[in-house]
Parts: sequence; C-alpha cells; structure tokens
Amino acid sequence: MKNKMVPIQFPPNIDEMLDNWASCAEENVGWCLLCDGPIRSEKDLIPKTTTHNCPAGLRLELRADRPGR
Ligand SMILES: [Zn+2]
Repeated sequence: MKNKMVPIQFPPNIDEMLDNWASCAEENVGWCLLCDGPIRSEKDLIPKTTTHNCPAGLRLELRADRPGR
C-alpha cells in the first residue's frame, strides 16, 4: 500500500504565496509551495516527478517512498 500519492498540505500562508506567484516577474511554469519560489522550467523539477528540485522538495520526495522505477 505504498503507491498512494502523498496528500497535498496547503501551507497556512498560501494566499501570500499565490500573491508572490502572481507578482513574480520571472518566467515560470509553476510555483513551489515548499520553498515559495518560482519553478522556472521542467529542469527545475526532480526527474520523473512534479516536485520542485529544492531542499524541501527533495525531503518530500524522500518521504513519499515511491515504488521504484
Ligand atoms: Zn521549491
């Protein structure tokens, strides 16, 4: 029973984060809710995931304990 996705936990300051995203002048493909920073391209993601390649994202992926590929 390890193939479940990890539930998303919305941070309490999500409004603020969305504001930051909306006012972000940099080109980006998404916003990382873990480090509150722009995801600039697919290369900013951990390979084979949709998680931002940042320290917090890496921790999340380690916890997610995905089935091996
Ligand atoms: Zn991040």
